[in-house]
Amino acid sequence: MPMDDLADGIPLVDHHCHGIFPADLDDERLADSLSEAFAPAPPGTDHWDKPVALSVRRWCAPILDLPPLCPPAEYAARRRELGAGEVNRRFLAASGIDTYLVDSGNRPEELCSVSELGTIAGRPAREIVRMESVAERVAGAGVSAAGYAQAFEAALRAALTDDVVGLKSILAYRATLAIDYGKPGDAEVEAAAGRWLAEIESSGKVRVTDAVLERHLIWTGADIARERGFPIQFHIGIGDPDIELHRVDPSHLTPWIKAVEPWGFPITLLHCYPFHREAGLMSENFPQVYFDVGFALNWVGPSYQRIMDEALELAPFTKQLYSSDAFGLAELYYMGARRFRTSLARALGHWVEDDECTAAEAERIAGLIGAGNTRRIYGV
Ligand SMILES: [Zn+2]
Repeated sequence: MPMDDLADGIPLVDHHCHGIFPADLDDERLADSLSEAFAPAPPGTDHWDKPVALSVRRWCAPILDLPPLCPPAEYAARRRELGAGEVNRRFLAASGIDTYLVDSGNRPEELCSVSELGTIAGRPAREIVRMESVAERVAGAGVSAAGYAQAFEAALRAALTDDVVGLKSILAYRATLAIDYGKPGDAEVEAAAGRWLAEIESSGKVRVTDAVLERHLIWTGADIARERGFPIQFHIGIGDPDIELHRVDPSHLTPWIKAVEPWGFPITLLHCYPFHREAGLMSENFPQVYFDVGFALNWVGPSYQRIMDEALELAPFTKQLYSSDAFGLAELYYMGARRFRTSLARALGHWVEDDECTAAEAERIAGLIGAGNTRRIYGV
């Protein structure tokens, strides 16, 4: 089977993405959206000079009726001329994504809601609840240190509407993955909550970073995941400057993965770059561990094939998942899908050429990684 046919036929369920910017973006906001840094680009440089931005100019420009590789200013102007509604609709339609699982907890004030994303795409969209956002809502609304643990669990359970299909933790961003994973006792949680509430009082900022509170959060999530069979997603590796890279290697999670293994719920490792090889091995070693190379496939631009090839080295075909990790920019849903389909089809196409598998087998593997595994473990 020709590679293009295999690529076009790969069904996709995006198991980790965010909402989309509903409004038009000025030049600066568009450029900033192509950066993970908090700071502006250094003087004399700009955010368009990097792999992901080059790929946007090459592959996304034609979707907006522009020539490939048109200058950034022309791209930004055409985006505004069409309007955010049309731009968002075009890119989501072109992505061919069947179903979206959306993290609703990251900067929701800037993004469309889960159901609005579904409406723009004309496809089903289901929700993943970010547990840190629930904890911060509870603490921000006013609670006593002694009442925190119960209030958090009640709020987390209340957030589980019929549209919710999984939980997520950004432990990696907050306490890092290099922590002790023991379940904290009631007194320990109360003391940590007391310290946190005092800090909120003095700083006015509501951000959970304490390792005890994070341990309490993931163990509470584990109780719920066990009851409902929900996957718990963990941010791993690549991220913004809040990440301390040497402390977000997924192998730090091993003690917790072993502790909850008898409970059977799936643990999905998100993004993983540059630790995607470690994640692949963990998905081989532990029956409940899954992983993806979303985010990286977009951000490495033209080097995407190498990432997919490495992801395919060791992991069972039943353990890798598709995600775009698109946030805000409609381009990233389209590019993520395009990079994933092309690289997976090319890798499997080489296996067929080298007589490692049949075309039918390649198609079956692509179907598992693109959509089948996610459908099975999230029940969508
Ligand atoms: Zn994300």
